Amino acid sequence: MTVPDLIFMDGSFRPSSSGHRAKLINPATEQPFAEVAAADVSDVNAAVESAQRAWEAGWRDLTPGRRTEILFNVAGKLREHVEEIAQLEMLHVGKPISDARDECALGARVFEYYAGAVTKFCGQTIPVARGGFDFTLRQPMGVVAAIVPWNFPFPIACWKVAPALAAGNCAVLKPASLSPLTALKLGELAHAAGLPPGVLQVLPGSGSAIGDALVTHPLIRKISFTGSTENGRRIMELASRDLKRISLELGGKSPNVVFADADWQRAAELSPMSVFANTGQDCCARSRVFVERSIYGPFVEKFVAATGKLVVGDPAKAETQLGPLVSAGQRARVEAFLADARKRGSRFACGAGRPHTKGYYLEPTVLLDVGKDDRCWREEIFGPVVCVTPFDEEAQVIREVNASPYGLSGSIWTNDLRRGLRVARQIESGVLSVNSHSSVHAEAPFGGFKQSGMGRDLGMAAMDGYTELKNVYVEE
Ligand code: NAP
Ligand code: MG
Repeated sequence: MTVPDLIFMDGSFRPSSSGHRAKLINPATEQPFAEVAAADVSDVNAAVESAQRAWEAGWRDLTPGRRTEILFNVAGKLREHVEEIAQLEMLHVGKPISDARDECALGARVFEYYAGAVTKFCGQTIPVARGGFDFTLRQPMGVVAAIVPWNFPFPIACWKVAPALAAGNCAVLKPASLSPLTALKLGELAHAAGLPPGVLQVLPGSGSAIGDALVTHPLIRKISFTGSTENGRRIMELASRDLKRISLELGGKSPNVVFADADWQRAAELSPMSVFANTGQDCCARSRVFVERSIYGPFVEKFVAATGKLVVGDPAKAETQLGPLVSAGQRARVEAFLADARKRGSRFACGAGRPHTKGYYLEPTVLLDVGKDDRCWREEIFGPVVCVTPFDEEAQVIREVNASPYGLSGSIWTNDLRRGLRVARQIESGVLSVNSHSSVHAEAPFGGFKQSGMGRDLGMAAMDGYTELKNVYVEE
Protein backbone atom coordinates (compact mmCIF):
# COMPACT_ATOMS: atom_id res chain seq x y z
CA MET A 1 0.00 0.00 0.00
CA THR A 2 1.30 3.47 -0.85
CA VAL A 3 1.18 5.86 2.03
CA PRO A 4 1.02 9.53 0.98
CA ASP A 5 3.88 11.23 2.81
CA LEU A 6 3.86 14.80 1.52
CA ILE A 7 1.56 17.77 1.81
CA PHE A 8 -1.16 18.24 -0.81
CA MET A 9 -1.24 21.66 -2.41
CA ASP A 10 -2.55 23.01 -5.70
CA GLY A 11 -3.58 19.58 -6.88
CA SER A 12 -0.33 17.73 -6.27
CA PHE A 13 1.88 16.34 -3.55
CA ARG A 14 4.99 18.25 -2.52
CA PRO A 15 7.41 18.29 0.43
CA SER A 16 6.75 20.72 3.26
CA SER A 17 8.86 23.85 3.02
CA SER A 18 10.79 23.05 6.21
CA GLY A 19 11.30 19.39 5.32
CA HIS A 20 10.00 18.47 8.80
CA ARG A 21 8.62 14.99 9.09
CA ALA A 22 6.64 13.13 11.75
CA LYS A 23 6.59 9.41 12.50
CA LEU A 24 3.34 7.47 12.47
CA ILE A 25 2.93 4.54 14.86
CA ASN A 26 0.49 1.70 14.32
CA PRO A 27 -1.40 1.57 17.66
CA ALA A 28 -2.16 -2.13 17.22
CA THR A 29 1.53 -3.10 17.04
CA GLU A 30 3.31 -0.10 18.60
CA GLN A 31 5.56 -0.12 15.50
CA PRO A 32 6.40 2.97 13.43
CA PHE A 33 5.23 2.34 9.86
CA ALA A 34 5.55 5.62 7.98
CA GLU A 35 6.81 9.15 8.07
CA VAL A 36 4.71 12.05 6.90
CA ALA A 37 5.49 15.63 6.07
CA ALA A 38 4.66 18.26 8.67
CA ALA A 39 3.58 21.61 7.29
CA ASP A 40 4.87 24.79 8.86
CA VAL A 41 3.62 28.36 8.93
CA SER A 42 4.96 29.22 5.47
CA ASP A 43 3.05 26.22 4.04
CA VAL A 44 -0.11 27.49 5.75
CA ASN A 45 0.32 30.90 4.14
CA ALA A 46 1.01 29.42 0.71
CA ALA A 47 -1.95 27.01 0.96
CA VAL A 48 -4.43 29.68 2.06
CA GLU A 49 -3.27 32.18 -0.56
CA SER A 50 -3.46 29.72 -3.39
CA ALA A 51 -6.89 28.50 -2.19
CA GLN A 52 -8.02 32.13 -2.35
CA ARG A 53 -6.70 32.37 -5.92
CA ALA A 54 -8.55 29.16 -6.87
CA TRP A 55 -11.71 30.65 -5.39
CA GLU A 56 -11.45 33.92 -7.26
CA ALA A 57 -10.31 32.26 -10.47
CA GLY A 58 -13.37 30.09 -10.84
CA TRP A 59 -14.72 27.95 -8.01
CA ARG A 60 -16.76 30.86 -6.62
CA ASP A 61 -18.47 31.47 -9.95
CA LEU A 62 -18.87 27.94 -11.22
CA THR A 63 -22.44 27.12 -12.23
CA PRO A 64 -24.33 25.04 -9.66
CA GLY A 65 -24.72 22.31 -12.28
CA ARG A 66 -20.98 22.02 -12.83
CA ARG A 67 -20.24 22.06 -9.11
CA THR A 68 -22.77 19.26 -8.59
CA GLU A 69 -21.15 17.23 -11.34
CA ILE A 70 -17.65 17.58 -9.88
CA LEU A 71 -18.77 16.70 -6.34
CA PHE A 72 -20.62 13.62 -7.64
CA ASN A 73 -17.44 12.60 -9.42
CA VAL A 74 -15.53 12.99 -6.14
CA ALA A 75 -18.11 10.81 -4.37
CA GLY A 76 -17.78 8.17 -7.10
CA LYS A 77 -14.00 8.17 -6.84
CA LEU A 78 -14.20 7.78 -3.05
CA ARG A 79 -16.60 4.84 -3.45
CA GLU A 80 -14.14 3.13 -5.82
CA HIS A 81 -11.42 3.51 -3.19
CA VAL A 82 -13.33 2.73 0.02
CA GLU A 83 -11.25 -0.35 0.76
CA GLU A 84 -7.95 1.47 0.31
CA ILE A 85 -9.07 4.39 2.47
CA ALA A 86 -10.38 2.00 5.14
CA GLN A 87 -7.04 0.19 5.27
CA LEU A 88 -5.19 3.48 5.79
CA GLU A 89 -7.67 4.52 8.47
CA MET A 90 -7.17 1.23 10.30
CA LEU A 91 -3.41 1.50 10.08
CA HIS A 92 -2.99 4.91 11.66
CA VAL A 93 -5.76 4.90 14.30
CA GLY A 94 -6.27 1.20 15.01
CA LYS A 95 -9.91 1.30 13.95
CA PRO A 96 -11.58 -2.09 13.40
CA ILE A 97 -11.71 -2.68 9.65
CA SER A 98 -15.50 -3.27 9.54
CA ASP A 99 -16.10 0.12 11.15
CA ALA A 100 -13.49 1.75 8.92
CA ARG A 101 -15.29 0.46 5.80
CA ASP A 102 -18.64 1.79 7.02
CA GLU A 103 -17.17 5.18 7.91
CA CYS A 104 -15.35 5.54 4.59
CA ALA A 105 -18.55 4.69 2.74
CA LEU A 106 -20.29 7.35 4.87
CA GLY A 107 -17.69 9.86 3.67
CA ALA A 108 -18.62 9.09 0.05
CA ARG A 109 -22.33 9.36 0.87
CA VAL A 110 -21.75 12.77 2.44
CA PHE A 111 -20.22 13.96 -0.85
CA GLU A 112 -23.24 12.57 -2.73
CA TYR A 113 -25.61 14.36 -0.36
CA TYR A 114 -23.87 17.72 -0.80
CA ALA A 115 -23.43 17.26 -4.56
CA GLY A 116 -27.22 17.07 -4.68
CA ALA A 117 -27.62 19.89 -2.16
CA VAL A 118 -25.91 22.44 -4.46
CA THR A 119 -29.07 22.83 -6.53
CA LYS A 120 -31.51 22.54 -3.61
CA PHE A 121 -30.02 25.07 -1.22
CA CYS A 122 -31.77 28.35 -1.83
CA GLY A 123 -32.90 31.70 -0.48
CA GLN A 124 -36.37 33.14 0.02
CA THR A 125 -38.60 35.83 -1.38
CA ILE A 126 -39.98 37.97 1.42
CA PRO A 127 -43.18 40.05 1.31
CA VAL A 128 -41.68 43.10 3.08
CA ALA A 129 -44.17 45.65 4.44
CA ARG A 130 -43.29 48.50 2.08
CA GLY A 131 -43.84 46.46 -1.06
CA GLY A 132 -41.27 46.01 -3.79
CA PHE A 133 -39.32 42.81 -4.28
CA ASP A 134 -37.15 41.36 -1.52
CA PHE A 135 -35.10 38.21 -1.72
CA THR A 136 -32.19 36.49 0.03
CA LEU A 137 -29.03 35.01 -1.38
CA ARG A 138 -26.82 32.42 0.27
CA GLN A 139 -23.28 33.31 -0.73
CA PRO A 140 -19.96 31.53 -0.22
CA MET A 141 -17.44 33.04 2.19
CA GLY A 142 -14.09 32.37 0.54
CA VAL A 143 -11.50 30.06 2.10
CA VAL A 144 -12.52 28.02 5.13
CA ALA A 145 -10.30 26.01 7.47
CA ALA A 146 -11.40 22.51 8.47
CA ILE A 147 -9.58 21.18 11.54
CA VAL A 148 -10.24 17.52 12.16
CA PRO A 149 -9.50 15.08 15.04
CA TRP A 150 -8.16 11.53 14.94
CA ASN A 151 -11.17 9.60 16.18
CA PHE A 152 -13.17 9.62 12.91
CA PRO A 153 -10.60 11.19 10.58
CA PHE A 154 -12.09 10.43 7.18
CA PRO A 155 -15.84 10.94 7.72
CA ILE A 156 -15.32 14.15 9.70
CA ALA A 157 -13.00 15.52 6.98
CA CYS A 158 -15.72 14.72 4.41
CA TRP A 159 -18.53 16.25 6.42
CA LYS A 160 -16.63 19.52 6.73
CA VAL A 161 -15.11 19.72 3.25
CA ALA A 162 -18.12 18.56 1.20
CA PRO A 163 -20.64 21.20 2.38
CA ALA A 164 -17.94 23.90 2.34
CA LEU A 165 -17.18 23.16 -1.34
CA ALA A 166 -20.85 22.63 -2.23
CA ALA A 167 -21.61 26.11 -0.87
CA GLY A 168 -18.91 27.51 -3.17
CA ASN A 169 -15.96 27.90 -0.80
CA CYS A 170 -12.42 26.57 -1.05
CA ALA A 171 -11.06 24.61 1.91
CA VAL A 172 -7.80 24.06 3.76
CA LEU A 173 -8.01 20.77 5.63
CA LYS A 174 -5.78 20.14 8.65
CA PRO A 175 -5.97 16.53 9.84
CA ALA A 176 -4.81 15.48 13.31
CA SER A 177 -1.10 14.65 13.62
CA LEU A 178 -1.93 11.04 14.39
CA SER A 179 -4.16 10.55 11.34
CA PRO A 180 -3.10 12.47 8.22
CA LEU A 181 -3.20 9.61 5.71
CA THR A 182 -6.87 9.50 4.79
CA ALA A 183 -7.09 13.30 4.54
CA LEU A 184 -4.21 13.27 2.05
CA LYS A 185 -5.97 10.49 0.15
CA LEU A 186 -9.12 12.61 0.06
CA GLY A 187 -7.16 15.48 -1.52
CA GLU A 188 -5.57 13.18 -4.08
CA LEU A 189 -8.80 11.41 -5.06
CA ALA A 190 -10.85 14.62 -5.18
CA HIS A 191 -8.32 16.14 -7.53
CA ALA A 192 -8.24 13.00 -9.68
CA ALA A 193 -12.05 13.26 -9.89
CA GLY A 194 -11.83 16.75 -11.40
CA LEU A 195 -11.69 19.13 -8.44
CA PRO A 196 -9.64 22.10 -9.69
CA PRO A 197 -6.18 22.58 -8.12
CA GLY A 198 -6.22 24.72 -4.97
CA VAL A 199 -9.90 24.19 -4.15
CA LEU A 200 -8.95 21.65 -1.47
CA GLN A 201 -5.54 21.89 0.22
CA VAL A 202 -4.45 19.30 2.78
CA LEU A 203 -1.89 20.29 5.40
CA PRO A 204 -0.68 17.57 7.74
CA GLY A 205 1.21 19.12 10.63
CA SER A 206 1.02 19.74 14.33
CA GLY A 207 -1.83 21.84 15.66
CA SER A 208 0.45 23.58 18.14
CA ALA A 209 2.85 24.55 15.31
CA ILE A 210 0.41 25.69 12.61
CA GLY A 211 -3.01 25.99 14.30
CA ASP A 212 -2.72 29.65 15.27
CA ALA A 213 -1.36 30.67 11.86
CA LEU A 214 -4.23 28.92 10.11
CA VAL A 215 -6.94 30.26 12.41
CA THR A 216 -5.69 33.84 12.32
CA HIS A 217 -4.80 34.03 8.62
CA PRO A 218 -6.68 37.07 7.30
CA LEU A 219 -7.98 35.19 4.25
CA ILE A 220 -9.56 32.44 6.36
CA ARG A 221 -13.22 33.40 6.71
CA LYS A 222 -14.49 30.51 8.75
CA ILE A 223 -13.03 27.81 10.96
CA SER A 224 -14.83 24.53 11.35
CA PHE A 225 -13.26 22.59 14.21
CA THR A 226 -13.87 19.22 15.84
CA GLY A 227 -11.77 18.28 18.84
CA SER A 228 -11.17 19.11 22.47
CA THR A 229 -13.10 21.76 24.38
CA GLU A 230 -9.79 23.35 25.35
CA ASN A 231 -8.72 23.92 21.74
CA GLY A 232 -12.25 24.95 20.81
CA ARG A 233 -12.07 27.68 23.42
CA ARG A 234 -8.71 28.86 22.09
CA ILE A 235 -9.98 28.97 18.51
CA MET A 236 -13.00 30.97 19.63
CA GLU A 237 -10.74 33.49 21.34
CA LEU A 238 -8.45 33.83 18.33
CA ALA A 239 -11.38 34.06 15.91
CA SER A 240 -12.95 36.83 17.98
CA ARG A 241 -10.17 39.24 16.95
CA ASP A 242 -11.42 39.43 13.37
CA LEU A 243 -14.95 38.24 14.17
CA LYS A 244 -14.42 35.13 12.08
CA ARG A 245 -17.21 32.62 11.71
CA ILE A 246 -16.67 29.43 13.66
CA SER A 247 -18.34 26.13 14.20
CA LEU A 248 -17.09 23.97 17.05
CA GLU A 249 -17.88 20.35 17.72
CA LEU A 250 -16.31 19.55 21.08
CA GLY A 251 -16.56 17.02 23.85
CA GLY A 252 -19.49 15.22 25.39
CA LYS A 253 -20.62 13.19 28.38
CA SER A 254 -23.71 11.76 26.80
CA PRO A 255 -26.50 10.06 28.75
CA ASN A 256 -28.23 6.78 28.06
CA VAL A 257 -31.50 6.81 30.03
CA VAL A 258 -33.29 3.46 30.44
CA PHE A 259 -36.83 3.48 31.87
CA ALA A 260 -38.35 0.34 33.38
CA ASP A 261 -41.15 0.42 30.79
CA ALA A 262 -38.62 -0.01 27.95
CA ASP A 263 -37.54 -3.19 26.22
CA TRP A 264 -34.64 -2.93 28.65
CA GLN A 265 -33.21 -6.35 27.81
CA ARG A 266 -32.64 -5.11 24.27
CA ALA A 267 -31.24 -1.83 25.62
CA ALA A 268 -28.81 -3.78 27.82
CA GLU A 269 -27.66 -5.88 24.86
CA LEU A 270 -27.13 -2.88 22.57
CA SER A 271 -25.85 -0.28 25.01
CA PRO A 272 -22.25 -1.50 25.46
CA MET A 273 -21.42 -0.56 21.87
CA SER A 274 -23.03 2.86 22.37
CA VAL A 275 -20.07 3.73 24.60
CA PHE A 276 -17.35 1.23 23.68
CA ALA A 277 -17.50 1.54 19.86
CA ASN A 278 -14.31 3.14 18.53
CA THR A 279 -12.84 2.05 21.90
CA GLY A 280 -14.83 4.82 23.55
CA GLN A 281 -13.03 7.53 21.56
CA ASP A 282 -16.27 9.04 20.41
CA CYS A 283 -17.66 12.43 21.35
CA CYS A 284 -21.17 10.84 21.27
CA ALA A 285 -20.23 7.93 23.58
CA ARG A 286 -23.08 7.22 25.99
CA SER A 287 -20.72 7.24 28.95
CA ARG A 288 -23.32 7.89 31.67
CA VAL A 289 -26.00 5.20 31.86
CA PHE A 290 -29.04 6.02 34.02
CA VAL A 291 -31.24 3.01 34.83
CA GLU A 292 -34.61 3.13 36.62
CA ARG A 293 -34.09 1.54 40.01
CA SER A 294 -36.65 -1.28 39.65
CA ILE A 295 -34.61 -2.84 36.80
CA TYR A 296 -31.15 -1.64 37.86
CA GLY A 297 -29.82 -5.00 39.13
CA PRO A 298 -30.91 -7.19 36.18
CA PHE A 299 -29.97 -4.44 33.68
CA VAL A 300 -26.43 -4.17 35.06
CA GLU A 301 -26.04 -7.94 34.99
CA LYS A 302 -27.05 -8.13 31.32
CA PHE A 303 -25.03 -5.04 30.37
CA VAL A 304 -21.87 -6.44 32.00
CA ALA A 305 -22.42 -9.85 30.35
CA ALA A 306 -22.82 -8.20 26.93
CA THR A 307 -19.67 -6.13 27.56
CA GLY A 308 -17.76 -9.31 28.37
CA LYS A 309 -18.62 -10.73 24.93
CA LEU A 310 -17.12 -7.80 22.98
CA VAL A 311 -14.22 -8.81 20.78
CA VAL A 312 -11.16 -6.71 21.61
CA GLY A 313 -8.17 -7.26 19.36
CA ASP A 314 -6.55 -7.05 15.95
CA PRO A 315 -8.35 -4.33 13.98
CA ALA A 316 -7.62 -6.17 10.72
CA LYS A 317 -10.00 -9.00 11.66
CA ALA A 318 -13.59 -8.58 10.48
CA GLU A 319 -15.03 -9.79 13.81
CA THR A 320 -13.10 -7.25 15.95
CA GLN A 321 -15.34 -4.72 17.70
CA LEU A 322 -12.76 -2.81 19.76
CA GLY A 323 -9.28 -2.02 18.51
CA PRO A 324 -6.53 -0.39 20.57
CA LEU A 325 -6.68 3.18 21.81
CA VAL A 326 -5.10 5.59 19.35
CA SER A 327 -1.83 6.15 21.23
CA ALA A 328 0.14 5.33 24.35
CA GLY A 329 -0.71 8.81 25.62
CA GLN A 330 -4.44 8.28 25.18
CA ARG A 331 -4.30 4.97 27.07
CA ALA A 332 -2.31 6.57 29.88
CA ARG A 333 -4.93 9.33 30.08
CA VAL A 334 -7.75 6.79 30.38
CA GLU A 335 -5.86 4.72 32.94
CA ALA A 336 -5.39 7.86 35.05
CA PHE A 337 -9.18 8.18 35.16
CA LEU A 338 -9.42 4.53 36.27
CA ALA A 339 -6.85 5.14 39.02
CA ASP A 340 -8.96 8.03 40.25
CA ALA A 341 -12.09 5.82 40.25
CA ARG A 342 -10.23 3.19 42.28
CA LYS A 343 -9.02 5.77 44.79
CA ARG A 344 -12.54 7.08 45.26
CA GLY A 345 -14.02 3.64 45.87
CA SER A 346 -15.99 3.05 42.65
CA ARG A 347 -16.90 -0.56 41.98
CA PHE A 348 -15.34 -2.14 38.86
CA ALA A 349 -17.98 -4.53 37.44
CA CYS A 350 -15.58 -5.58 34.66
CA GLY A 351 -12.60 -4.51 32.60
CA ALA A 352 -9.68 -2.14 33.29
CA GLY A 353 -6.98 -4.62 32.28
CA ARG A 354 -4.65 -4.68 29.31
CA PRO A 355 -5.83 -7.69 27.30
CA HIS A 356 -2.83 -7.93 24.92
CA THR A 357 0.86 -7.46 25.55
CA LYS A 358 1.45 -5.42 22.36
CA GLY A 359 -0.73 -2.57 21.20
CA TYR A 360 -2.49 0.15 23.20
CA TYR A 361 -5.41 -2.07 24.16
CA LEU A 362 -7.62 -1.63 27.20
CA GLU A 363 -10.55 -3.78 28.28
CA PRO A 364 -13.98 -2.16 28.23
CA THR A 365 -14.67 -1.09 31.79
CA VAL A 366 -17.99 -0.78 33.64
CA LEU A 367 -17.94 1.41 36.77
CA LEU A 368 -20.67 1.35 39.43
CA ASP A 369 -21.13 3.54 42.53
CA VAL A 370 -19.28 6.48 40.96
CA GLY A 371 -19.71 9.70 42.96
CA LYS A 372 -21.43 12.52 41.08
CA ASP A 373 -18.46 14.77 41.92
CA ASP A 374 -15.86 12.27 40.71
CA ARG A 375 -13.83 12.96 37.58
CA CYS A 376 -15.09 9.81 35.88
CA TRP A 377 -18.67 11.01 36.22
CA ARG A 378 -18.08 14.63 35.22
CA GLU A 379 -15.31 14.63 32.60
CA GLU A 380 -15.05 13.22 29.11
CA ILE A 381 -12.78 10.18 29.38
CA PHE A 382 -12.55 9.39 25.65
CA GLY A 383 -11.83 5.73 26.29
CA PRO A 384 -13.70 2.47 26.96
CA VAL A 385 -15.16 3.41 30.34
CA VAL A 386 -18.79 3.77 31.36
CA CYS A 387 -20.51 4.77 34.62
CA VAL A 388 -23.88 3.17 35.41
CA THR A 389 -26.19 4.64 38.04
CA PRO A 390 -29.78 4.09 39.24
CA PHE A 391 -32.51 6.76 39.27
CA ASP A 392 -35.99 6.93 40.78
CA GLU A 393 -38.01 9.53 38.89
CA GLU A 394 -38.26 11.13 35.47
CA ALA A 395 -37.78 14.67 36.78
CA GLN A 396 -34.73 13.60 38.77
CA VAL A 397 -33.02 11.91 35.83
CA ILE A 398 -33.60 14.92 33.57
CA ARG A 399 -32.01 17.14 36.24
CA GLU A 400 -28.99 14.86 36.58
CA VAL A 401 -28.55 14.51 32.81
CA ASN A 402 -28.65 18.28 32.39
CA ALA A 403 -26.24 18.91 35.27
CA SER A 404 -23.35 18.28 32.81
CA PRO A 405 -21.71 21.26 31.09
CA TYR A 406 -21.84 19.15 27.90
CA GLY A 407 -24.86 18.50 25.68
CA LEU A 408 -23.95 16.61 22.55
CA SER A 409 -25.84 13.35 22.21
CA GLY A 410 -27.82 10.74 24.13
CA SER A 411 -30.41 7.99 24.14
CA ILE A 412 -33.75 7.43 25.85
CA TRP A 413 -35.21 3.93 26.16
CA THR A 414 -38.96 3.71 26.82
CA ASN A 415 -42.02 2.12 25.23
CA ASP A 416 -44.15 5.08 26.32
CA LEU A 417 -44.03 7.34 23.28
CA ARG A 418 -45.34 10.34 25.19
CA ARG A 419 -42.58 9.95 27.77
CA GLY A 420 -39.97 9.55 25.02
CA LEU A 421 -41.04 12.83 23.42
CA ARG A 422 -41.37 14.63 26.75
CA VAL A 423 -37.90 13.63 27.92
CA ALA A 424 -36.32 14.26 24.50
CA ARG A 425 -37.66 17.79 24.61
CA GLN A 426 -36.22 18.46 28.07
CA ILE A 427 -32.71 17.06 27.68
CA GLU A 428 -30.23 19.82 26.78
CA SER A 429 -28.50 18.15 23.88
CA GLY A 430 -28.03 18.72 20.15
CA VAL A 431 -28.69 15.12 19.12
CA LEU A 432 -30.91 12.49 20.76
CA SER A 433 -32.31 9.12 19.84
CA VAL A 434 -35.22 7.17 21.31
CA ASN A 435 -34.88 3.38 21.47
CA SER A 436 -31.71 3.62 19.39
CA HIS A 437 -28.11 4.68 19.69
CA SER A 438 -27.75 6.41 16.38
CA SER A 439 -26.33 9.96 16.41
CA VAL A 440 -25.05 10.67 12.93
CA HIS A 441 -27.02 10.88 9.69
CA ALA A 442 -25.58 12.58 6.60
CA GLU A 443 -28.96 14.25 6.11
CA ALA A 444 -29.59 15.56 9.65
CA PRO A 445 -27.89 18.31 11.69
CA PHE A 446 -25.18 17.22 14.12
CA GLY A 447 -23.68 19.34 16.90
CA GLY A 448 -23.93 20.32 20.52
CA PHE A 449 -25.61 22.46 23.15
CA LYS A 450 -23.64 24.24 25.88
CA GLN A 451 -19.91 23.39 26.04
CA SER A 452 -20.28 20.68 23.39
CA GLY A 453 -19.98 23.44 20.84
CA MET A 454 -21.85 25.60 18.39
CA GLY A 455 -22.90 25.46 14.77
CA ARG A 456 -23.89 22.26 13.03
CA ASP A 457 -22.22 19.73 10.78
CA LEU A 458 -24.21 17.63 8.28
CA GLY A 459 -27.66 18.11 6.80
CA MET A 460 -28.69 21.36 5.15
CA ALA A 461 -27.81 23.16 8.41
CA ALA A 462 -24.12 22.76 7.57
CA MET A 463 -24.69 24.64 4.29
CA ASP A 464 -26.04 27.58 6.31
CA GLY A 465 -22.81 27.57 8.28
CA TYR A 466 -20.63 27.84 5.17
CA THR A 467 -22.49 30.78 3.66
CA GLU A 468 -23.30 34.39 4.40
CA LEU A 469 -26.93 35.44 4.16
CA LYS A 470 -27.54 38.49 1.99
CA ASN A 471 -30.82 40.36 1.62
CA VAL A 472 -31.52 42.26 -1.60
CA TYR A 473 -34.38 44.72 -1.91
CA VAL A 474 -35.59 46.00 -5.29
CA GLU A 475 -37.84 49.07 -5.44
CA GLU A 476 -40.76 48.58 -7.80
P1 NAP B 1 -7.32 18.28 19.88
O1 NAP B 1 -5.94 18.55 20.31
O2 NAP B 1 -8.34 19.33 20.11
O3 NAP B 1 -7.23 17.87 18.34
C1 NAP B 1 -8.20 18.16 17.34
C2 NAP B 1 -7.56 18.86 16.15
O4 NAP B 1 -7.12 20.16 16.54
C3 NAP B 1 -6.29 18.17 15.63
O5 NAP B 1 -6.21 18.32 14.23
C4 NAP B 1 -5.19 18.96 16.32
O6 NAP B 1 -3.95 18.88 15.69
C5 NAP B 1 -5.77 20.35 16.21
N1 NAP B 1 -5.15 21.32 17.09
C6 NAP B 1 -4.40 21.11 18.20
N2 NAP B 1 -3.99 22.28 18.73
C7 NAP B 1 -4.49 23.25 17.93
C8 NAP B 1 -4.40 24.68 17.94
N3 NAP B 1 -3.74 25.36 18.88
N4 NAP B 1 -5.04 25.37 16.96
C9 NAP B 1 -5.73 24.71 16.00
N5 NAP B 1 -5.82 23.37 15.93
C10 NAP B 1 -5.22 22.65 16.90
O7 NAP B 1 -7.82 16.97 20.54
P2 NAP B 1 -6.83 15.77 21.01
O8 NAP B 1 -5.68 16.32 21.79
O9 NAP B 1 -6.53 14.97 19.84
O10 NAP B 1 -7.76 15.02 22.01
C11 NAP B 1 -7.89 15.48 23.34
C12 NAP B 1 -9.28 15.30 23.84
O11 NAP B 1 -10.20 16.03 23.03
C13 NAP B 1 -9.81 13.91 23.77
O12 NAP B 1 -9.34 13.10 24.78
C14 NAP B 1 -11.29 14.17 23.80
O13 NAP B 1 -11.72 14.44 25.09
C15 NAP B 1 -11.43 15.39 22.95
N6 NAP B 1 -11.75 15.09 21.55
C16 NAP B 1 -13.01 15.25 21.10
C17 NAP B 1 -13.31 14.94 19.80
C18 NAP B 1 -14.66 15.07 19.26
O14 NAP B 1 -15.01 14.35 18.34
N7 NAP B 1 -15.46 16.00 19.74
C19 NAP B 1 -12.33 14.46 18.95
C20 NAP B 1 -11.03 14.33 19.42
C21 NAP B 1 -10.77 14.67 20.72
P3 NAP B 1 -2.81 17.89 16.29
O15 NAP B 1 -3.35 16.53 16.18
O16 NAP B 1 -1.69 18.13 15.39
O17 NAP B 1 -2.57 18.33 17.70
MG1 MG C 1 -4.31 17.89 21.48
